[in-house]
Amino acid sequence: MNIIILGPPGAGKGTQAQHLVETRNMVQLSTGDMLRAARTSGTEMGKIVADVMDRGQLVTDEIVIGLIREKLEEGSEGGFIFDGFPRTLAQADALEALLNESGNSLDRVVSLDVDDEVLVQRVVNRAKEAVAAGKEARADDNAESMRTRLAEYYKKTSPLLGYYYAKGNLKSIDGLAPIEQVQASLAAALDA
Ligand code: ADP
Repeated sequence: MNIIILGPPGAGKGTQAQHLVETRNMVQLSTGDMLRAARTSGTEMGKIVADVMDRGQLVTDEIVIGLIREKLEEGSEGGFIFDGFPRTLAQADALEALLNESGNSLDRVVSLDVDDEVLVQRVVNRAKEAVAAGKEARADDNAESMRTRLAEYYKKTSPLLGYYYAKGNLKSIDGLAPIEQVQASLAAALDA
């Protein structure tokens, strides 16, 4: 089964994806994680994306589609969880084409519904907690960058909700419930 977890920054996509990896033998493809790995590797591409990410803007479709293509070629028995991808309609089209090429399909798109103000607070708290624990906070986890990330989300990513609804594979769940409850709703959405 191949699924997309859709939702604004800080909605808990990564947390939910991780749980599916542990319980369903699925492979998580997080473009955010891949891009963070690319920036620490110090490659040319890493240098280009670092600045864009810190400002909270989206990196180019070409770069993220390239990253996803490589990972899809490795295959996954339990299927893939797309986390943070697609973020634009062009990425959604590319994903469909890549899945079709390998004889696969997109089975579900699950939207984590949340409240904007709660998100901004979550992300700011995530940064504070990291600092309190002596770790480095993500460079883009601050109120200003978060507002840009949210604006990018509403401008470029949220149209995907309507797109997938129209295609018939969208399920929306309450992303503000306690983590275990979100896990249960997600499982129900996948098994329905
Ligand atoms: P969050 O969902 O908390 O914003 P992510 O880890 O998914 O964080 O992404 C962090 C940053 O990486 C984004 O703000 C963006 O700059 C970049 N990024 C991640 N995925 C994509 C994508 N599919 N397309 C373009 N940019 C992306």
